[in-house]
Amino acid sequence: MTKLAEIAFREFSHFLRTLVSLTATFLLPACTPITTPNLLTWERASDGSYSIAPQSVSTITDATHMVGELGTVTHGGRIETNADGSGSYTGGVGLTVHAEVQTLDSEQVAVPLDEDGLLLYTFYANLGAARDAVTAQGVDVSPIFPMAAAWNPAVSPLIELAPADNAAYATGSNTFMLLPDGGNRDVPLLANEGVIFHEFGHAVFHLLTTGDPTAPPLAIDNTQESYYWQASLHEGFADTQASLLLDDPAFIDASISMPLRHLDDDHAVVTSDILPSTRVGGVLDDPYPLGTVYASFAWDLRVASDPDTAYQIVLNAIAAWSPQTASDMDGTVYLADLLQSAKDAGLGDAACASNTARFSLLAVPCP
Ligand SMILES: [Zn+2]
Repeated sequence: MTKLAEIAFREFSHFLRTLVSLTATFLLPACTPITTPNLLTWERASDGSYSIAPQSVSTITDATHMVGELGTVTHGGRIETNADGSGSYTGGVGLTVHAEVQTLDSEQVAVPLDEDGLLLYTFYANLGAARDAVTAQGVDVSPIFPMAAAWNPAVSPLIELAPADNAAYATGSNTFMLLPDGGNRDVPLLANEGVIFHEFGHAVFHLLTTGDPTAPPLAIDNTQESYYWQASLHEGFADTQASLLLDDPAFIDASISMPLRHLDDDHAVVTSDILPSTRVGGVLDDPYPLGTVYASFAWDLRVASDPDTAYQIVLNAIAAWSPQTASDMDGTVYLADLLQSAKDAGLGDAACASNTARFSLLAVPCP
């Protein structure tokens, strides 16, 4: 090796060493998985108020790339509605949450450097809490996990979902859609624990009524009343699950005031304009008003007993109802099972009073 070549090699190897050390300093920390279970999140207190605080999220194994036992969050991709009524998700790319590990409250905490990361950490914490709360009620939700979660995906217009400021569950694809804060809210909808308990309610209702998280829904023909019953009973169960398992009849209010979704007053009553028979053929269906009646019925049972008893009554009613075909998606048949299930639990009087106040138009007799 000539002197010149020797110097050049020495310089080159110095350059390489410098590059390696720079890489180690500036690049590796961003790629190295953050494995601390302590994540900074929006955290809901039992009184329904929120603060930004560290939470231990034992389900996450890689908080840099949003990987853990509940599933992996990816960025983008596309969610479609298929001809058979199921959803499908074409997966997005790997996601990196920009976060750094800091010592807070004497614990090592992963601190996101932007609001999007804070939303994703909060989602993961709340999905785990929802899974554990439903499991504690005796429901085997293991077939749902691991599930896909899509951060800010492209969404088919058929899904009728605003492309911001929300969370949603795509039945059939067993996928959560996670959309950024579009309203500059103190508590974005995606960070609202009740919203995730509600959306997970769709996953549970779909599992209980089809037996398979990847099966298409029972009712897929939007020219039939069963399709609209299904949509409202889905919303009713989702709100039932969120309100009872968090014991909060107005869980959305931390994010956005929605008095029409409050379950602890008497406004939710079946009227002809919210029944499926008048919704068939509508341009934009609103399944919530009728769903809120069913969730308010469940809340009436909670007032007469306790959240666990009310939730078990609903689970037992779904088991007795056990819809097998689209035509079984009928809220009057389901209401009869709800009334019987409440009676079996010793709450027949409360259920009959609620039936009279809220469902008189359906004319389902008390057992
Ligand atoms: Zn819903």
